[in-house]
Amino acid sequence: MNTDMLLSDVQFSELYLYLTSKERFGLGPAQGNVTCDHTLRSTLEWMKKHRVQDIRATIEKIVDLGGHCDCEVLLNVTPATWEERRGEEITGPDSLGESEWQQLVSDLLSHS
Ligand SMILES: [Zn+2]
Repeated sequence: MNTDMLLSDVQFSELYLYLTSKERFGLGPAQGNVTCDHTLRSTLEWMKKHRVQDIRATIEKIVDLGGHCDCEVLLNVTPATWEERRGEEITGPDSLGESEWQQLVSDLLSHS
């Protein structure tokens, strides 16, 4: 797949560092100031602040790797995972159906 529009490994590490800062979620559960509200709010905040070109493509990839909300990104999508798997095809549309998948991603983008 075309990975040009996804976050680079370096950018993803920066995002991950942002999420693990004390002002956000900290390094483990309940160590930071923010509790996950089951959205990708902080992840999207960072992407908007850093003018990420194709936020939707990156979110699709993050969700496909198991990051349905900010705390799941921390758990399931580490920088090592990103580096290893960002080039893989996303499997979401195959398991959910294309339109359900697009709806899920749109919901995550609009509720965050
Ligand atoms: Zn969460």
